[in-house]
Amino acid sequence: MFYYKKYVFLIITSMLLSCNTPSSNKISNQQLIKNKTMTTPKIQKTEAEWKAILSDEEYHVLREAGTERAFTGKYTDLDADGNYYCKACGHLLFTSTTKYHSGCGWPAFYDIANDSAVITKMDYKFGMTRIEVLCKNCHSHLGHVFDDGPQNKTGLRYCINSISLDFKEQEK
Ligand SMILES: [Zn+2]
Repeated sequence: MFYYKKYVFLIITSMLLSCNTPSSNKISNQQLIKNKTMTTPKIQKTEAEWKAILSDEEYHVLREAGTERAFTGKYTDLDADGNYYCKACGHLLFTSTTKYHSGCGWPAFYDIANDSAVITKMDYKFGMTRIEVLCKNCHSHLGHVFDDGPQNKTGLRYCINSISLDFKEQEK
């Protein structure tokens, strides 16, 4: 029993590590930090205004840079064709054409919808060096970008909270 628990613990630990700190030595990849410049967001609201339009959970992730629990988001396994917009402001962020199954428990994309979709900034919280992804329009927190994406595509993995996204299915 003891060994079983230890084994499970090791698996979970290695999963967490592989999702959160993938080959972090290569994280200076210029591609990862494109659109790095922090500009003034087009959409600006007071914290009270954000709280009025977002649920408590949405506010925590989008405005306080929280993270939804792995494998709990509604878009993690979604394969439908369509676009993913910012839950806070409606800005186009990602499309289903670059979505893939990373196995990490959050929706993953290997590219952004277009050059004005997101901005990125360095994130040193929790003793890790990561690159945070924010909506370019309202600077709400979306997730992080890593360099362990599909090598036959961009090599990037945009690991995004479902709760930060609003999916609209393509009309057939
Ligand atoms: Zn936004």
